[in-house]
Amino acid sequence: MEKAVSIVKDFKEQCETPLGKLREVADAMNFEMHAGLDSEAASSMLKMLITYVHKLPTGDEKGLFYALDLGGTNIRALRVHLGGKEKGIVRIESEKVSIPPHLMTSSSNELFDFIATSLAKFVSSEPQEFHPPHGRQRELGFTFSFPVRQTSIVSGTLIKWTKSFDIEDLVGEDVVRKLTKSMAKIGLNMRVAALVNDTVGTLARARFSNHDVIVGVVFGTGTNAAYVEHAHAIPKWHGLVPKSGEMVINTEWGDFCSIHLPLTEYDQALDAESINPGEQIFEKVISGMYLGDIVRRALLKMAEEANFFGDTIPPKLAIPFILKAYEMAAMNHDTSSDLKVVGNRLRDIFEIHNTSLIVRKIVVELCDIVVIRAARLAAAGIFGLLKKTGRDTVKVVEQQRPVIALDGGLFEQYPKFRTCLESTLKELLRIEAAETIVIEHSQDGSGVGAALLAASHSQYL
Ligand code: ADP
Repeated sequence: MEKAVSIVKDFKEQCETPLGKLREVADAMNFEMHAGLDSEAASSMLKMLITYVHKLPTGDEKGLFYALDLGGTNIRALRVHLGGKEKGIVRIESEKVSIPPHLMTSSSNELFDFIATSLAKFVSSEPQEFHPPHGRQRELGFTFSFPVRQTSIVSGTLIKWTKSFDIEDLVGEDVVRKLTKSMAKIGLNMRVAALVNDTVGTLARARFSNHDVIVGVVFGTGTNAAYVEHAHAIPKWHGLVPKSGEMVINTEWGDFCSIHLPLTEYDQALDAESINPGEQIFEKVISGMYLGDIVRRALLKMAEEANFFGDTIPPKLAIPFILKAYEMAAMNHDTSSDLKVVGNRLRDIFEIHNTSLIVRKIVVELCDIVVIRAARLAAAGIFGLLKKTGRDTVKVVEQQRPVIALDGGLFEQYPKFRTCLESTLKELLRIEAAETIVIEHSQDGSGVGAALLAASHSQYL
């Protein structure tokens, strides 16, 4: 056991994130954000993508709009009925379809045909009174949560895949054109009115109810952030300055990397064996897709080098991604005195039976180390973004309380992640600034937010 304890101790030390380190991470993030806004150079680490969203929802939007959310493991279709200032969001209907794993690495035609068919099935349940009048098209907000270089609010080419997707022939192609083609093929009467990233949807959803929202962040399968920038502060923007004077920027901060990030041998191995080695390093230490696998890798090393689970190495420990974030959260929040949940999960996931209390405690400690590092670095990212917007300190002249909207499964369903993120952000912001910054949950930003953006970019306005 001594050897195992020493492995955990080393791991913990390497994962430490004192405030000084977090400030360095935030400064590096802030620096890269400036660099990404300066030029379109492929070399800039943060893409700081121009989203063409300069009209965020006001709350006045009315009518029936659709959204399609493609981001992680599912596709969701939504129908959102908006009732204007008085009634707000009247009704939301939605349907989730899981993406057959083989489609994530097949061809773009197969993927988009599947998406269009799923969407058409959902549209067929539309109540008759909402059928569009003759000659009018239904309008869709398409949330496509991968790095896209947009050329307008309704067009954009895929830069690269992230998370579990890898469909070579879509890279460099216009994703709206692809979807439109697949919809036309099956005679679906629908037009993409807005192509959005889920972070932009998160921002839009929150802005619909609160004008002070300036940042949208997602912590789900992956992680990313978007924010409202002054158009004149984007040197690489050569278009007309929009009437609002603002432009939403999709940072693609998942690709951030810095020597200040506390990375361990497990992170390095995870990255090397991933489908995108060397990329999305910030995402790989923070987001839901990866956290469980970092814990698994540490457990495997302890089994191999310290006989942590006895004389044999449980074979299931060698299976990548077998430990999901929600399982890790369940173990991490086990309050029973004998850590029964931890024991059951180790048995069910890894086929490791009869674990002692000390083993269970160490497993919980590993989960703690990984989730706390993730949450604290996530807070540093937000702090870096607030620095970029100049909202990291209080300005007496500005009485506005900037609001940060957050969403995503990890933030919503992993309380330890959420509370640690919130408390670390308070630590990072000076005491007074912490009181002026508001964090709110933007419920279903990637779905409802996209429908709202379709409404604010409707061709019938
Ligand atoms: P997306 O896949 O589009 O990011 P979500 O925002 O719903 O969708 O995030 C789903 C991710 O959130 C999962 O892949 C998982 O990593 C994480 N997650 C979901 N449920 C939990 C949970 N109970 N505890 C911890 N993480 C969770």
